[in-house]
Amino acid sequence: MAHDEPVKSGGPEKLVIRNIGLMLSGDLARPILDADTIVAVGGRILGVGRERDLDTDGAQTLIDANGSVLAPGLIDSHVHPVAGDWTPRQNQLGWIESTLNGGVTTMISAGEVHLPGRPKDIVGLKALAITAQRAFDNFRPGGVKVVAGAPIIEKGMTEHDFKELAEAGVTLLGEVGLGSVKAGYEAKEMVAWARKHGIQSTIHTGGPSIPGSGLIDKDVVLEADADVIGHINGGHTSLPWKHVCELCEKSSRAIELVHNGNEKIAIEAARAAIELKCPHRVILGTDGPAGSGVQPLGMLRMVALLSSFANIPAELVFCFATGNTARIRGLNCGLVEVGRAADFVFMDRAQHTAGATLLESVQLGDLPGIGMVMIDGLVRCGRSRNTPPATEVPVVLQGGH
Ligand SMILES: [Zn+2]
Repeated sequence: MAHDEPVKSGGPEKLVIRNIGLMLSGDLARPILDADTIVAVGGRILGVGRERDLDTDGAQTLIDANGSVLAPGLIDSHVHPVAGDWTPRQNQLGWIESTLNGGVTTMISAGEVHLPGRPKDIVGLKALAITAQRAFDNFRPGGVKVVAGAPIIEKGMTEHDFKELAEAGVTLLGEVGLGSVKAGYEAKEMVAWARKHGIQSTIHTGGPSIPGSGLIDKDVVLEADADVIGHINGGHTSLPWKHVCELCEKSSRAIELVHNGNEKIAIEAARAAIELKCPHRVILGTDGPAGSGVQPLGMLRMVALLSSFANIPAELVFCFATGNTARIRGLNCGLVEVGRAADFVFMDRAQHTAGATLLESVQLGDLPGIGMVMIDGLVRCGRSRNTPPATEVPVVLQGGH
């Protein structure tokens, strides 16, 4: 997704959301905003504050949040899409649209590795990456922004290949280590070429995911120095805790925690990041679709897991799933901030949770109920078909589509 690209979905000219009970910003420095109203124009946030202080006249779309909680749409930092809304991994249709119902508005590909017959020759892997980038840029399943076209690097690639990929619009590398480049020194050279040409890299960390993939240990991760330490908690098999700890301490790169990984290590790594005073490095993903399936609520489950078991305030964990990822990935979403995309998830405490508020319910380990999801200022779904029912849901008073 290019940042300054015009909004293709043709957002309504003016959107006003009022009566927001609690506004989560996605920013660790100030996770809760003193605001109850958002104004957006053309799918971009124009104003955030108190209703009386904002120009709310002339809105084509008017939404009453009914006192529910608004947060930036969740960003899944690690998915493996293939084509449209189909995944061959579990032969499932509609998984991205179902994940929208879990509050996810943007997904980042860590490689289109599940494509049956995936080409591994250099011209073929470049062609696949460019095709995936174009296809997901042209088609957003359910409205979800899928940043795809993440080639799996193979031995024999030269700097020119990375330059060519970058010029063709590729912005990401798929997980380093899933191809034939598994040695630290080789990965380091290619990661540096990618970085030089503006392509961000992620490295697979831990044991093999499925038969045919391999181990990437902490020495390879440190030597390769990719921008994102992909699934530091394993996908699924984790490195020993002391090695994960060493990665948190010795590297300054992003610490990615995924649902399809070792949950105990995810909790430990999140705690370590807080203790090391680098919570801004923590980003969340699902690594779905995977051997354990598709988890439409995987991002919410990560938020509840880390908040409850790692004992991190829920408003901070939501930043791991939104603003942290947007900043690290260079995306114009993920924060409730003027100029950013109007991608929002509306939540409330699930009906009959023991928590008195949404944040308290998440800290108790319960999932929130989603009442609405918006992308680029457009309503993409109302009450989620997948979460437990939210106590209060927003109401569209006018317009909306
Ligand atoms: Zn992996």
